[in-house]
Amino acid sequence: MELYSKYINKLIEQFSKLPGVGSKSAQRLALHIINMPTEHVERFAQVMIDAKKNIHYCNTCYTLTDAQTCPICANQGRDHGTIMVVENIRDLAAYEKTGKYDGVYHVLHGAISPMLGVGPNDIKLKELIKRLEGEVKEVIIATNSSLEGETTAMYISKLIKPTGIKVTRIASGVPVGGDLECIDEMTLLRALEGRTEL
Ligand code: ZN
Repeated sequence: MELYSKYINKLIEQFSKLPGVGSKSAQRLALHIINMPTEHVERFAQVMIDAKKNIHYCNTCYTLTDAQTCPICANQGRDHGTIMVVENIRDLAAYEKTGKYDGVYHVLHGAISPMLGVGPNDIKLKELIKRLEGEVKEVIIATNSSLEGETTAMYISKLIKPTGIKVTRIASGVPVGGDLECIDEMTLLRALEGRTEL
């Protein structure tokens, strides 16, 4: 005999596909949804659909936005000659939260990992190189200090160096393997200020 109705099982199955959700949490979330008022469930579902329909990559930096160009890239008050390269949107958000960086960003959406079969063409690297045709004076590589992050940093620096554009790497005060988003603002700012030329 099935423990739950097939409808609940389907819901549990969907939740368990989410990152960080184990089978126990998936059960708890599914049962929570069932116990929610119908209109809350409808609103929740609609919010997910709306977000999915309206959000896409910024045509310049590849962060997620509901406009063609994200508010950071569209802001003329920012220094468009300095591009900070990050692995993901959460890293961008971490630097943005410090409020001390006034350049623009480039989101790679991953890092090169020969072990996981992620190559240079699997991240937004061509898109970064294309941006360098404009007036860029510095590219700050702020990928994580993990093996993948370092590999990516070296790869990017080798690509950019011949162009004569300054390439810097954030200081490695950031713990090895530590996700940028988990690091406090002071550490981030120190890493940024202590960046060195590659
Ligand atoms: Zn943008």
